[in-house]
Amino acid sequence: MTEAENATPQPIDSVYETGEVLGDAWSWLILREAIFHGTGRFNEFQRRLGIPLDTLAARLDRLVHGELLRREERSSRQDVRYEVMPRGEDFFTCLVAALRWGDEHCADQGATDLTATHRACGEPFRATLRCGSCWTPIDAREVVVDSVRRASSDLITKKRQRSPNRRLLERGGPCSVARTLAVIGDRWSSLVVREAFLGTRRFGEFQDRLGIAPNILSNRLSRLVELGVLAAEPYQVKPPRHEYRLTPKGLALYPVPLSLLAWGDRWLASGKGGIRLLHRGCGQRLDVALSCDHCSERVGHRDVEFVRTAQH
Ligand SMILES: [Zn+2]
Ligand SMILES: [Zn+2]
Repeated sequence: MTEAENATPQPIDSVYETGEVLGDAWSWLILREAIFHGTGRFNEFQRRLGIPLDTLAARLDRLVHGELLRREERSSRQDVRYEVMPRGEDFFTCLVAALRWGDEHCADQGATDLTATHRACGEPFRATLRCGSCWTPIDAREVVVDSVRRASSDLITKKRQRSPNRRLLERGGPCSVARTLAVIGDRWSSLVVREAFLGTRRFGEFQDRLGIAPNILSNRLSRLVELGVLAAEPYQVKPPRHEYRLTPKGLALYPVPLSLLAWGDRWLASGKGGIRLLHRGCGQRLDVALSCDHCSERVGHRDVEFVRTAQH
């Protein structure tokens, strides 16, 4: 935490905070390796992800600093292993939410090489987020935003960040998590998508609420329109103005920002995040639970078996 943040207490904006702790799309892929496949050694991460060495070292440090991973040093330097901490294990929900969206909405990019099986029912695992109170699968249209206190836009890093390139992220092999990250894996895209789910529609509103530079906002909005996540609908002719609305493909993305929000609330905000959501169906505050789409049972990170179907 910086001095400025200490001086004026800010509401915790969990999606924003999660981005700060995590860094970029590479961190997700490192966690995917560690959590899905038990990868723990530097060289192994490097080989699996095809990630530049200095980027890998920096992201691992960041994940250790954020307490998602722990660096286990044994007798020699060669014997360093990265172990997943409870915070990292809990990130499983975000990963499988991204996995499902990529599987279902990026299949046109070719086959992937990962199979996931729910051990208890033996069926292919597809993540479904349910309301912890009434156990109904969560639909974005059934969630009411009760209150929103965003992080002050002054806090948002103005550092330039490029949208991740799918080819680069898929260097280690075709993967649905990587494909989802190619859509929302940079900070601004994930915040723009988060805003769209909070009901923000117009350019000026996105700009005010995110404190984002107009050229970056315009770039992210057109990219999300191009990817079919948002649709631009004219609401004014002179001068031409558009509203940006989530398409069905965009609405299906909801579990990703939602699981990020829930993760951030749990680990970074001690349950007191700045965004309060209510489940319309049962009227309760939304508590997000991960389940298997097939058998509806609650699922944790040890309940799913991941197998790579191709070696690379
Ligand atoms: Zn409910
Ligand atoms: Zn199941």
